[in-house]
Amino acid sequence: MNDLPIVVIGAGPQGLAAAAHLRERGLTPLVLEQGHAPAAAVAEWGHVRLFSAWPELIDAASVRLLEATGWTAPTTGYPTGAQWIERYLAPLAAALGDRIRYDALVTGVSRQGRDRLVDADRANTPFTVHVVDAAGREERLLARAVIDASGTWRTPNPAGADGLPALGERAHAALISHQVPDRTHPDPYAGKHTVLIGAGDSAFNAISELTRIASAHPGTTITWAIRRVVSETTFGGGADDQLPERGALGIRARQAVESAHVDLVTGFRTARIDTDADGRALVTGEGGRVLPAADSVVVLTGFRPDLSFLGEVRLDLDPTLEAPRNIAAEIDPNIHSCGSVQATGAADLAQPEPDLYLVGMKSYGRAPTFLALTGYEQVRSVVAAIAGDHEAAARVELVLPDTGVCGGAGVYDEPDGVGGGCCAPVGQEVLSIGAGPRG
Ligand SMILES: Cc1cc2nc3c(=O)[nH]c(=O)nc-3n(C[C@H](O)[C@H](O)[C@H](O)COP(=O)(O)OP(=O)(O)OC[C@H]3O[C@@H](n4cnc5c(N)ncnc54)[C@H](O)[C@@H]3O)c2cc1C
Repeated sequence: MNDLPIVVIGAGPQGLAAAAHLRERGLTPLVLEQGHAPAAAVAEWGHVRLFSAWPELIDAASVRLLEATGWTAPTTGYPTGAQWIERYLAPLAAALGDRIRYDALVTGVSRQGRDRLVDADRANTPFTVHVVDAAGREERLLARAVIDASGTWRTPNPAGADGLPALGERAHAALISHQVPDRTHPDPYAGKHTVLIGAGDSAFNAISELTRIASAHPGTTITWAIRRVVSETTFGGGADDQLPERGALGIRARQAVESAHVDLVTGFRTARIDTDADGRALVTGEGGRVLPAADSVVVLTGFRPDLSFLGEVRLDLDPTLEAPRNIAAEIDPNIHSCGSVQATGAADLAQPEPDLYLVGMKSYGRAPTFLALTGYEQVRSVVAAIAGDHEAAARVELVLPDTGVCGGAGVYDEPDGVGGGCCAPVGQEVLSIGAGPRG
């Protein structure tokens, strides 16, 4: 077993950090990445500026590895996803060299010769990891331990308010995007009508981008449909957020709503998506309200983990969040509207399957509050546990910033605004809503 590599699934920020920690401890990582290059998921949202500053986006063991190559850490400013890759993640991947395999899609994880049912000697039996390359060739690798850092980017939540794709959502997928619009490529939205669905940080980003496009391109209109009514917490923690740029996302979104380009529709729960005679999207809510016909629909309703390739290993996940059970209570937005969550380490992430860990964005399941900082602390602790350094694994080396959102950021409100959250009652607020699109 000790001669086998530790397989890390995904060469995103967290998988690369895990590999750096493993290498530092003299263990052999093998990172399997489905994309052609490092951080393939971040690359897809490379135009988005992060709300975390550089020091919050860099892992300590990775810095130690990189500094040995003459690299210097960026210290100030807020990179875009593309800059995160260019200045940190790509050099880190280069430093890890052949410890990363690209075009390697993990399709299954199990124990050699044992399906999920078999108890005998699992802990001393290698993992088998099934991989498919870009040409469709299958391969089976053996591993001593598996760290799943595969993120959630490729499994976005649907528009449908009941968590299933809305009727017609699959059929009209060509009209739907799960990307924050890019104001430097305004074509899909300029002079057109867009429906935006969702209300988290990405939706805040999207409404700001769309409003900027609207300011520069007459005739651009936006309908923003959110599930909740407007309350004190709708636009995040604002100036109370300990991450100022995260707070600013919500402040800018509120300003966008007050502009003339946006029609905010509250209490809207998407039920179906059809098209009109011109091929434009008609989004219908529960109760039958139909939004004005749209040239495109931007759906930013969060993410969920892909558990399909973990069917033959033993997991203990929270039934609500699909996150490791021990951390779910810390991060459940139904309970933890009050912002900060505790850092989570190996003990919280451990599964009934020995030496298997879910880390990074994936470890938060459906919870929306994951930060790269949390993940770096997770991989430090998990790698220490795999290395047998239980003292280091148990240590917590991070205090997470508070979101400043307190007073009911639960995931569901009754139409009158009651419900959700754990703290003070939700305050109501009237916003002046700009003139919206017609027809
Ligand atoms: C638009 C946006 C903005 C964000 N802004 C911030 C921010 O400001 N601050 C912050 O802290 N966090 C931010 N986040 C959260 C951010 O996603 C994480 O910090 C970080 O990208 C998560 O890293 P990860 O490695 O866990 O997952 P990912 O970045 O998703 O990386 C997972 C990798 O695994 C690969 N993969 C997936 N499935 C497989 C498979 N089956 N086989 C092989 N490879 C696979 C993917 O291709 C990908 O490269 C943001 C997220 C988004 C979407």
